[in-house]
Amino acid sequence: MIALIAALHVVTTTETLASLAREITGTRVEVTSLTRGVQDPHYVDARPSLVLAINRADLLVDVGLDLEIGWLPVLVNQARNASVLPGGKGRLTAGEVVQVMDLPTGAVDRSRGDIHPRGNPHIMTDPRRVRAVAAALAARLAELDPQGAGEYRSRQQSFDGRAASAEAAWGQKLASARGREIVTYHRTLTYFLDWAGLRLHGEIEPKPGVPPSAAHLAELITSMRSGGVKAVVSENFMDTGLARMVADKAGARLLVIAGDVGGMPEAKDWFTYMDTLVQRVAEALP
Ligand SMILES: [Zn+2]
Repeated sequence: MIALIAALHVVTTTETLASLAREITGTRVEVTSLTRGVQDPHYVDARPSLVLAINRADLLVDVGLDLEIGWLPVLVNQARNASVLPGGKGRLTAGEVVQVMDLPTGAVDRSRGDIHPRGNPHIMTDPRRVRAVAAALAARLAELDPQGAGEYRSRQQSFDGRAASAEAAWGQKLASARGREIVTYHRTLTYFLDWAGLRLHGEIEPKPGVPPSAAHLAELITSMRSGGVKAVVSENFMDTGLARMVADKAGARLLVIAGDVGGMPEAKDWFTYMDTLVQRVAEALP
């Protein structure tokens, strides 16, 4: 059944967050993502149509941890919607409800190019953290729309059960890869690797957001060869030609994945995104 009038308008910064919101809300709520899954969420054009969506939003869900800092604050400031300002009841920041990894030690100077100065914002590939975000989302939706509270709660419980089963199945698929090392282009898989029991050997970017020098690449390739690293993972919005060169020279396999739901045909929602990621990593590290 499709609701004639949506009870709420939920706007998310990424398609992965939108997928999660749809799991919790069904047809009761209209869910819109500000970006597409083929885009790098760090760098998005602040188009006027996005301001309009935020203006109409009852709830704005972002990742936070500076992932959207280059574009979202500009849009929110133009949207004339006080409830979605940071700290407002119409704002839910996923990074605030999970334990954050890669927290910098000591002073971080963003001007030197590190775009993760508040810890790693790529939290949505860890089922444990995604389940925590789903619970926070259901609780906030219930506050904003008390009539729908029962539906949000039961849908969240259903989601949580399916996510727990999927998590167990994904863990089994990755059993043989456990303890092995991979290289990523950007520092996107910290949470995934932590959950799956894999290890990060290094990154093509010397620091998040900083392009590699020839010297960095040469050093990376040498250490991959001596460490027997067999997989390089790159998002499809990065320079996959460069990632291919690194993988080839190091004798590793290149896995190109989308950064978000919708960024590759197989990833229609969060579950199928994770299916694809797990499958590819498992195949590369048999
Ligand atoms: Zn990043």
